[in-house]
Amino acid sequence: MAFGNIFYLYPLKKAVTKVIDLSKYTKELSDYFSSSENILLISHINPDGDAIGSQLALYDYLVAKGRNVSMMTPNYLQEFLKWMDGVDKIDIFIKDRKKCRKLIEDADLIVMLDFNQPNRLGEAESLVAASKCKKVIIDHHLNPSKFADLTISDPSVCSTAELVNELVSELNGSQFLTRPYAEAIYVGIVTDTGNFEHGSYSSRTFRIAADLLDSGIEKEKILNLIYNNYSSDRLRLQGYALNQKMVVLPEYKTAYISLSKNDMKEYNHVKGDTEGFVNMPLTIKGIYFSALFIEKDGFIKISFRSKGQFPSNEFAAKYFSGGGHLNASGGEYAGSLENTIDYFLTVLRENYWRFDNKI
Ligand code: 5GP
Ligand code: MN
Repeated sequence: MAFGNIFYLYPLKKAVTKVIDLSKYTKELSDYFSSSENILLISHINPDGDAIGSQLALYDYLVAKGRNVSMMTPNYLQEFLKWMDGVDKIDIFIKDRKKCRKLIEDADLIVMLDFNQPNRLGEAESLVAASKCKKVIIDHHLNPSKFADLTISDPSVCSTAELVNELVSELNGSQFLTRPYAEAIYVGIVTDTGNFEHGSYSSRTFRIAADLLDSGIEKEKILNLIYNNYSSDRLRLQGYALNQKMVVLPEYKTAYISLSKNDMKEYNHVKGDTEGFVNMPLTIKGIYFSALFIEKDGFIKISFRSKGQFPSNEFAAKYFSGGGHLNASGGEYAGSLENTIDYFLTVLRENYWRFDNKI
């Protein structure tokens, strides 16, 4: 079937599929872990299930090995992650700046999880940059910036949690399995793949998931806690977003949803409520690119998703100061919702030309 037109910005690139050789990194990582008095694990701003899952899993492993470990996020966790074992031990920078500043100052090793750009540290960026301690990045996004002593980056894995599990298994000599660890890795994998639906999961991902399930974690309980744990308002917000706020542009194979602060207020929005909305337009036949615009204080936060080879991350980076993965990315724009959508439509038109059968 010919798909006809899609807009297309750059020569098509296949996602990186080479699995990195972890043994190159584990010696150095192991030395860092064993020689550090105070290890601080930091995940990214607006932490998602993979950020928190990989952070809690690595924490559990390092504590089991007798290390002194702290955890920090730049801002608040989403509601659907608050049930996880260990979240109460995560300090939140914007909630407790003094304590977090001290954690950064006292750390002799900072491990950053699930991000590869320093601005994803939010307000903590300058403090981390100023710290003289050793820094490690463990991540699976494309094109890492160089701001750590050791960057372990593998865009071929589905999630940072999968990569953390590979590293921990290598360090441990075998699969490490405690219940909190197994749940945390599982949450990272499940949330970054939409329960094994999208993203770069592989047969290896399923093998890891199988090992985690064999350890006795309850997959149904976890899925219910993540996906079936919302308020009725959230479901109504979703209905409203799809019914009233979704615009479908078949000529651009694109659909987008926008939500204003007022919309969110009307439905008693809490953090995490719009999670997953951006994926929904992709279930429409013939739609290959989806955007979700959310009004924040003074700027618009945008999520992008694509099907096939359209590089949503390059679009996000080029036009919306963002980035991410080929099929899942995000960015932001300083302006009103209307301005942002106008700009989006302009760059969409500018970058649209014909080619066939390439999706
Ligand atoms: P989400 O749409 O779920 O917020 O984000 C999807 C993906 O895009 C995530 O992997 C995230 O790392 C990336 N992403 C979202 N927003 C931004 C952003 O503002 N900058 C960058 N560099 N990446 C982003
Ligand atoms: Mn991730």
